[in-house]
Amino acid sequence: MIEFRGVTKRYPDGTVAVADVDLEVPAHRTTVLVGSSGSGKTTLLRMVNRMVDPTAGAVLVDGVDVATVEPVRLRRSIGYVMQNSGLLPHRKVADNIATVPMLRGMPRRAARARALELMDTVGLDRALADRYPAQLSGGQQQRVGVARGLAADPDILLLDEPFGAVDPLVRTELQDELRRLQGELGKTVLFVTHDIDEAFRIGDHVVILREGGEIVQRGTPAELLASPADAFVAGFVGADRGRRSLRVDRIGGRDVVVDADGRPAGVLAP
Ligand code: ADP
Ligand code: MG
Repeated sequence: MIEFRGVTKRYPDGTVAVADVDLEVPAHRTTVLVGSSGSGKTTLLRMVNRMVDPTAGAVLVDGVDVATVEPVRLRRSIGYVMQNSGLLPHRKVADNIATVPMLRGMPRRAARARALELMDTVGLDRALADRYPAQLSGGQQQRVGVARGLAADPDILLLDEPFGAVDPLVRTELQDELRRLQGELGKTVLFVTHDIDEAFRIGDHVVILREGGEIVQRGTPAELLASPADAFVAGFVGADRGRRSLRVDRIGGRDVVVDADGRPAGVLAP
């Protein structure tokens, strides 16, 4: 479990990015922080692996204040996937994935074998192992980023808008893949996005943030849709725009769920 306790971050220029945030992130689940740009999502995420230190309050991982853990050690034990994959351009795919295990002392051959396994895990063809990042599609690069985040077999995986730069179809595929991975590996996933649809698609728990890291509401996607706490949340989740008002139509002998515009959203199981 990750706990934010009364956490505030004031940057040196005086900007208060997050103010007095209390939040518990349950283990072995996916929690999504969602809010518009500048709401403090990245700041909160980076406090977990000490890329940002709070100016007040504390972040605890399994009851241990991360301020007491040496940053480099902490970062090797927590997977982190950045928006633009953060891959090293002059290293091959397999070497990018193997970097962290090697930093942790794994011999080169073993680290490469582990990298190839991880490529299977995230659905990347092993034939891509000796390519450079620039020789991959955006979606493939993001998969490499996720594989690298998983390389040290961390209990916690932090992802900061990891699928923002890929096209919508691939994005959906990556979201589904992440859900599958989370279910399979049981990691504690903390995911940041400004996209509420993405949040609903992958989050077991969704936390809606307003400026200053203010938590407006948290709950399961269903809870947030069913009873938005205020007009801000209602607007954010689209509940007041009828965008999410679904109905079931009988089409071709099947029950098809369609949205307010008549676009199909899925088929009900018989
Ligand atoms: P988000 O990820 O939700 O877009 P951030 O955590 O990046 O939000 O930023 C929250 C606020 O803190 C914004 O107002 C941003 O401009 C400010 N901020 C972020 N990083 C810094 C920094 N290094 N120095 C000063 N202000 C910053
Ligand atoms: Mg951000």
